[in-house]
Amino acid sequence: MEILTTVTETRERVFGWRRQGLSVGFVPTMGALHAGHLSLLRRARQECDRVVASIFVNPLQFGQNEDFDSYPRNLEADAALAQGVGCDLIFAPSVEEMYPEEIRTVVSVSGLSEGLCGSSRPGHFDGVATVVAKLFNIVTADRAYFGRKDAQQLAVIKKMARDLDFPVTVVGCPTVREADGLACSSRNAYLEGEARSAALCLYRGLRAASRLVSEGERRADVLERAVMAEVQAEPLATLDYAELRDWATMAKLDRLPEDGEAILAVAAYISNPPPASGKARLIDNVFIAVEQGKVTVDEGVVAAGGESAAALDGDSAAATPPGLRDGRKPVAVRDRERRTPDKG
Ligand code: AMP
Repeated sequence: MEILTTVTETRERVFGWRRQGLSVGFVPTMGALHAGHLSLLRRARQECDRVVASIFVNPLQFGQNEDFDSYPRNLEADAALAQGVGCDLIFAPSVEEMYPEEIRTVVSVSGLSEGLCGSSRPGHFDGVATVVAKLFNIVTADRAYFGRKDAQQLAVIKKMARDLDFPVTVVGCPTVREADGLACSSRNAYLEGEARSAALCLYRGLRAASRLVSEGERRADVLERAVMAEVQAEPLATLDYAELRDWATMAKLDRLPEDGEAILAVAAYISNPPPASGKARLIDNVFIAVEQGKVTVDEGVVAAGGESAAALDGDSAAATPPGLRDGRKPVAVRDRERRTPDKG
């Protein structure tokens, strides 16, 4: 595996592969790699001849009071993990390499970027869309892999790629969770002491709502309240939002669609207990698909053993943490992407 830091070299390397007729898969990341990132790299490895990861903490997508400076960075550890899952090339540019002069061109995907994280993080999705557009032009891949954990981001990138005719297939991949259900995130590293177990309130809320869905509940406010109740019951958590949205348009929904896909998304700040300080803003979601009256809730997959992110297709029971086991049949967890690769 090679690590390149310049745009020119990376372009040349990828063009070289393309000239040989090799297909290229691309996984953009901000580093601090975990099982979620590795699942994307594995998927790319399965589907493409060459796999490229980018590691770049993009200042454009951080607000003034956000964690750009403290965001975890460890290229050496990331390189070892990426190599372990068969990555061929890491593109790890400096900020100066990506933004050598003041940037005056911004990619903004209206509508989809508003609400949810767009409200609490103004300008965030413009920063994301702009850097991903640049990365798509540098790493000219056939397929680019994004996690459904960042559902709004995935929707924004898919729309951007369609609107601007990027010749790349954007593939959405299941959310990967730690053994107790917490969605893997680089920001989990901020959680100290009891904050780690407090962070489970997001997943608990989503599961409570999933249970209501499986019992026939369709109203958005009831589902959202179920999520909010779990987050608000946790003393270390402060709710940002809990909302049911249409998956493709991110429009607010009053109830689950008769036919189509929705996401139930939650964001919360989890504070470290004193004397520790600091907090982490975490997000999570479940996908809810309604097809001919049949409802499926997709929570993602549980990383099997340490960093390994093997999908537990159709059976999450073994990995369901005891604290969350509630005596009912677990909500079907399936990797729908594998069946309909370009739906996302
Ligand atoms: P980040 O490094 O946070 O910018 O994330 C890079 C990519 O990894 C994005 O496409 C994320 O959606 C994806 N990702 C992050 N966490 C997870 C997770 N728990 N499961 C699946 N994908 C994830």
